[in-house]
Amino acid sequence: MIPQRTLKAPIRASGIGLHGGRQVHISMLPADINTGIVFRRVDVSPVVEIPASALLVGEATMCSTLIKDGVKVATVEHIMSALFGMSVDNCIVELSSPEIPILDGSAAPFIYLLQSTGVVAQAAPRRFMRITRPVQVGEGDKYARIEPYEGYRLSFGIEFKHPAFKTSAQTAVLEFTPANYVKEVSRARTFGFMRDFEALRSKNLALGASMDNAVALDAYKVVNPDGLRYDDEFVRHKILDAVGDLYLIGAPLLGAYTAYKSGHALNNQLACAVLKDENAWEWATFEEGRQPAPNIASMHALAA
Ligand SMILES: [Zn+2]
Repeated sequence: MIPQRTLKAPIRASGIGLHGGRQVHISMLPADINTGIVFRRVDVSPVVEIPASALLVGEATMCSTLIKDGVKVATVEHIMSALFGMSVDNCIVELSSPEIPILDGSAAPFIYLLQSTGVVAQAAPRRFMRITRPVQVGEGDKYARIEPYEGYRLSFGIEFKHPAFKTSAQTAVLEFTPANYVKEVSRARTFGFMRDFEALRSKNLALGASMDNAVALDAYKVVNPDGLRYDDEFVRHKILDAVGDLYLIGAPLLGAYTAYKSGHALNNQLACAVLKDENAWEWATFEEGRQPAPNIASMHALAA
């Protein structure tokens, strides 16, 4: 059986929010089968629980923000990406402020915490959404698409006309397994252009941004003294974001995702389009005696 999974023990961390710039404490807690990922704002009274659902994404300009009853949880994409990367189905994430901490701008610190604590199998099969026919959304030349595939594959293309991107590959493919994700994608940081920085700050965005949690680009080059973690860190981060944005569908997908110049808004449109089209997918479980295809089996070999 491919089982559901949760954390072995609670994890606590703190840091600042990328956009709000505020200090936030988070606790990631083990949760029962079929809970899914649920955010819990413990700084409001009464406490508000917000399920990690694409249908609750209220803002998706710079990050993916969940909104329920006027209460927000912003910048959920990297922690969602890390939880998916470690095959965690059930987890309650408590936080003391409206934004998930940005930490180093990648999913690596969350992966480190999850690996240190450990993940355990639960006594219920994992439920996958198997894509049965293609779904595509787009705007101008941008698009995001998911189609049938026995496994989970993500392909992304970007096109930045900037000198720093000349030497960097602008397409990347991830054949998802936890080991591939941790090694190839999880360390890729978010990036931003200095020219946009002032405009973002004037809108009260990026207030917590620094070279400790983002790759910064001036008109010619990467400004961070230590340079990049991967030659093509930018497009790998887009895959990291897509893994997190698509996990807001609420279940692991069996399908192939292809995107060009997509971002949080288009990824969310795709997730919502899939959820709303019941003819485009079916539930799949792999219980005792049902052998999954090799690509699916390797999606669950936990990364060390
Ligand atoms: Zn990101």
